[in-house]
Amino acid sequence: MLHPTPGGLYCPMGDFYVDPVRPVGRALITHGHSDHARSGHSHVLATRQTLDIMAIRYGVDFAGSSQAAGFGETVDVNGISVRFHPAGHVLGSAQIEIEKDGTRIVVSGDYKRGVDPTCASFEPVPCDVFITEATFGLPVFHHPPPSGEIEKLLTSLRQFPERSHLIGAYALGKAQRVISLIRRGGYDQPIYIHGSLAKLCDYYESQGVDLGELRPATTEDKKSGSLKGAVVIGPPSAFNDRWARRFEDPLPIFASGWMMVRQRAKQRGVELPLVISDHCDWPELLDTIREVGPQEVWVTHGREEALVRWCELSGIAARPLHLVGYEDEGD
Ligand SMILES: [Zn+2]
Repeated sequence: MLHPTPGGLYCPMGDFYVDPVRPVGRALITHGHSDHARSGHSHVLATRQTLDIMAIRYGVDFAGSSQAAGFGETVDVNGISVRFHPAGHVLGSAQIEIEKDGTRIVVSGDYKRGVDPTCASFEPVPCDVFITEATFGLPVFHHPPPSGEIEKLLTSLRQFPERSHLIGAYALGKAQRVISLIRRGGYDQPIYIHGSLAKLCDYYESQGVDLGELRPATTEDKKSGSLKGAVVIGPPSAFNDRWARRFEDPLPIFASGWMMVRQRAKQRGVELPLVISDHCDWPELLDTIREVGPQEVWVTHGREEALVRWCELSGIAARPLHLVGYEDEGD
């Protein structure tokens, strides 16, 4: 019904791939991150929001044709019943349930369990085979509540009112979630965004996610005196290039699940690491597996061995798939 191939998970009965890493005839796509959603497929089945996001990122001709699947709606794909369910990862993100003759497989894509007002919350779907990632699949990974991380940022803004606070956050999902969290923390000043975030922020707003007043961080005068003490958000790569040098005495910040690894923060020159992740931490992975109650767990990528071992010790058959090409764009 489903097996790993070099192109990604393939369903021979339905002749489709899930999140293929190379162009295929028929692709089912869990979410818009570039390692899962690639352009050039003949046909794409995904949620309306994921299709919209792909069109924003790749252009309207990102696939030969496309079809939108609503959450919970059954779509017949060559005799296989397919249903999309919310994954709580980024706007539009879905788990994909595949069913034939009473056997049910759930491909969870990337997902998280913590509350995130910028997307629909993960829904556990009982299944026979649960396919999960394990980006943070080690017992050392515990992500703190994001509200506490944002409090660190707000404290820093009070302590260093002269310094521009430059936050590195991935363009799809993380940036909008961080902005939304900052607003919930009570910060109502304009937030300055790198040009590459504008279209996706506009799209989130159009889908009912309130981000408050956003201004381009690129139109201010070169000396950027007016951005002293401001919050500026851009993709992590932007802070390595000339764009970042316009800010005087900037305070480098990075919002990522990896920021709980001090060494990673140091390597990047991050002064204020914010541990904000759009993936499950270790306890959330285990809780989810217990909740969906599968007979078998397949682990696609990440720290696969520890999670496979935990499943086996818990009496659940498990295997690592060692899928390649998934680079955690939105970690
Ligand atoms: Zn992702």
